Amino acid sequence: MNVLKQYIFNTKINKTSMKLRSFFVAAMLLLSMGSLMAQQMPSIPVDPNVRVGKLSNGLTYYIRHNEYPKNVANFYIAQRVGSINENDDQRGLAHFLEHMAFNGSDHFKGNGIIDFTRTLGVEFGSDLNAYTSIDQTVYRVCDVPTTRVTALDSCLLILKDWSDGLTLDAKEIDKERGVVHQEWQMRSDASMRFFEKYLPTLYPGSKYGYRLPIGLMSIVDNFKPKELRDYYHKWYRPDNQAIIIVGNVNVDHVESEIKKLWAGVTVPANAAKVVDELVPDNNTPIYVSDKDKEQQYSEISVYMKRDPVPDSLKNSIAYLAQNYVKDMMFYMLNSRFSELTQNDSCPFIQADTGDGQYLISKTKDAFQAIVIPKDGKDTAALKAMVIELQRARDYGFTATEYARAKSDLLSGIEKLYTNKDKTENNYFYSVYAANYLDKEPMPSIETQYQLANAIIPRIPLEAVNEMAKELISNSDTNLVVVEQAQEKEGKTYVTVDELKQAVAAARNSSLTAWVDHVKQEPLVAKMPAKGNIVKETENKKLGFKTLYLSNGAKVILKKTDFKNDEVLMQATAKGGSNLFGAADYANLKVFDDVIGYSGIGDFSSTELQKELAGKNANANLNLGNYHATVSGNSTPKDLETMMQMTYLYFTNIKKDEKSYHSLMNNMELALKNKDLRPESVFSDSLRLDRYAHNPRFASLKATDLSKVSYDRILTIAKQLTADASKFTFYFSGNFDEAKLRDYIEQYIASLPADTKAKVNPGKEIMTLTMGNYKDHFSRKMETPKAQLYAFWTSKLSKDNLSDEITVDAAGQVLNMELLRSIREDNSAAYSVGAQGFPQTTLDNKAYYVLFAGCPMDPAKAQLAYDLMMKGVKDASEKVDPADVQKVKEFMLKQADEDARKNGHWLNVLYQYNEFGQDVQTDYKAIVNALTPEKISSFIQKVILSSGNKVEVLMTPVK
Ligand SMILES: [Zn+2]
Repeated sequence: MNVLKQYIFNTKINKTSMKLRSFFVAAMLLLSMGSLMAQQMPSIPVDPNVRVGKLSNGLTYYIRHNEYPKNVANFYIAQRVGSINENDDQRGLAHFLEHMAFNGSDHFKGNGIIDFTRTLGVEFGSDLNAYTSIDQTVYRVCDVPTTRVTALDSCLLILKDWSDGLTLDAKEIDKERGVVHQEWQMRSDASMRFFEKYLPTLYPGSKYGYRLPIGLMSIVDNFKPKELRDYYHKWYRPDNQAIIIVGNVNVDHVESEIKKLWAGVTVPANAAKVVDELVPDNNTPIYVSDKDKEQQYSEISVYMKRDPVPDSLKNSIAYLAQNYVKDMMFYMLNSRFSELTQNDSCPFIQADTGDGQYLISKTKDAFQAIVIPKDGKDTAALKAMVIELQRARDYGFTATEYARAKSDLLSGIEKLYTNKDKTENNYFYSVYAANYLDKEPMPSIETQYQLANAIIPRIPLEAVNEMAKELISNSDTNLVVVEQAQEKEGKTYVTVDELKQAVAAARNSSLTAWVDHVKQEPLVAKMPAKGNIVKETENKKLGFKTLYLSNGAKVILKKTDFKNDEVLMQATAKGGSNLFGAADYANLKVFDDVIGYSGIGDFSSTELQKELAGKNANANLNLGNYHATVSGNSTPKDLETMMQMTYLYFTNIKKDEKSYHSLMNNMELALKNKDLRPESVFSDSLRLDRYAHNPRFASLKATDLSKVSYDRILTIAKQLTADASKFTFYFSGNFDEAKLRDYIEQYIASLPADTKAKVNPGKEIMTLTMGNYKDHFSRKMETPKAQLYAFWTSKLSKDNLSDEITVDAAGQVLNMELLRSIREDNSAAYSVGAQGFPQTTLDNKAYYVLFAGCPMDPAKAQLAYDLMMKGVKDASEKVDPADVQKVKEFMLKQADEDARKNGHWLNVLYQYNEFGQDVQTDYKAIVNALTPEKISSFIQKVILSSGNKVEVLMTPVK
């Protein structure tokens, strides 16, 4: 479902932000690199392909021509203000203002921005959206078709209106209060409640303690319109704003339009300054622990605070080099944690480290580590995690770990470089936004590649070990430890003193250096005897070749240039979980995970991870309702690794007990407590209600785990992959065809097969609830919220591309109409979603489903319910032609984008090969032929007249 307007508050680890306190490590790097960096701290050249400029009123702009995807452009306006700029009596206004940006402006009255961009095929919620965070607010219109010049100029006008032309009409403000209030309700989960309560403790003496963007509902419900206008005019000014435009645009034209549009905007002489809010150091450690009934599992975070790198030093090569060092250090630390979780005796389920800003403050950074303890092992888990940090600090890393980290980092940069002429618009946006908002450097991809290859191989391990000493502190100064515990009857809770003791005990442990176990042998130990390609055909219309192999397997090849760095593979055979019965339900539900946690060949799961370091290749085995699938992806360079993994999934899945136990522990913890979240109770009920309470489709429960058998799962995997002659392998991507043919003979034509055996497609298992079915229930919640989902289902005899397209369009039209009536006109829900789709069965698609749903304020549940039912009924009689036109624009634009995606082609080739259905050639013609009458009559005749409706409504216990 669309989350319509998001705001960012990420308490988890932020791995992208890279800053450092002192330049000790940098100095060491410079020394070790000798002549490469003879001059001191050379600066990083700016990408020459971006036009950067600043108007005399302070407005900054970044414009870049880019042609991937073709014929679209993205428009952004970034402001370096957010909730931190609010006064105490304005808490929540920065975010409220963001909502109002879609409710009327100089050139777009009412919902004009939403309506206008829809005529361009731009979807509100995904392509048209905004976010408000603590210190930044960014608005965007993305994927705008550039075939119409007027569209570009209109999008610039939208940016201009956002920058200083919002109407902020009192009536519209009143309508939006309910929407924002419901957003707060919807977002009120255990974590949000925790931070609303404890941020003041985590930020003593700082405004950061009181500036969550969602703000105070007492203010949201009651502020006077003038207060919002005052905030707007005070902070939204050209000297706080950057325009970023990336895509298929004429840079000169866009630049001159920006100059014209913003020429008359001035900044008042006495304008308020954006002043950094500081975060004081804490000399005594801060420990916080609390519990919540909806917290699914306990988690403990450790922060070691420090000052960020000053903006003035970020454009140096030393800064870049330090970022590399940190990336590699975190790669190695996190690999150790994941290896440790494989031991039964390990007291935690998961631990992870990273680096970035301390919680929500950009003026303070922190080394961060987070651990999820096994049930009841909170202090032991904290201790074990701190011990590993201490071990890295005291003994550093080993040469083999470091070799993997280096090759992984280099291969990531190489992938970026290989695909550089097909880099997506939003990559460039993120680089320019980081340059404007955080003063991060913005070199070209070529420069990044050259610098990385010059610097990374020369970084000595000692530099990384020094970095560990510097970032991992063993002092109480600036230490922050936070436990969010799960509350449950009969449970005992860890006290702050116990947390303190665990840290102290870890620091006093006597440690030895880490030992890295590595397997030095090829993935496929013994090469199989090659088979061969016995016949081939070509399909010119859809542009693919079919190869028939000596073992009976079939291969379909489509060579594309959509992306330079991508080859996708999918191998499917008929017969999936429908081959197995009730005794295996638990095994079937965990099948994909258990296989994913197993090894292949002679490699355990951990050994495989190590072996794959530095390679961009992967494969896995999945079980669908009616099919077994081996899918893979790789770069052209690492194609053979993907082929070898595929070969091994067919021939030699290795039982890995350690890894399996670790998976079962994780699942048990997650499942045992998942009903604590009302949202998960709701989605479980929904599944049961939709699938006629068939236990086959019920969500996995903790009690199911005792019925899982690893041996049985391996037997099922063997059965599914025993006969390669029943599989068709689809490849789409930028492969070297001669090489791929060679690999196909080596790794696919050599697979065991039984060409005499008959295909066993299994039986029909789909059970959808028919008739009119209602499930309205109440449950206790920490923050009262309500949710409503409804599904209308019709049974059809055979699939048909036209109906498939119509049901999709019907869902999108309904989405617009419900959004208007439920959210915009009646403020009855924060978000609303609707969708139409075919439901797959054994003979492909036998059902069409129309779905609508929304989370809402319990007080407005009845209103939202009535509006939804009325909306669907109205749509079955008549839909707005303008809405239909917008949906068609969107679908046509999407079709052009999909036509250049390898993943899309895997599906096209599959539908064609498996069912003889060409879902590509006529797609756009059918979309063009859609009419409002066709859509409303489809909703009436096909969907509603079938009389099948499932509705599920959850409300809080009063
Ligand atoms: Zn919002």
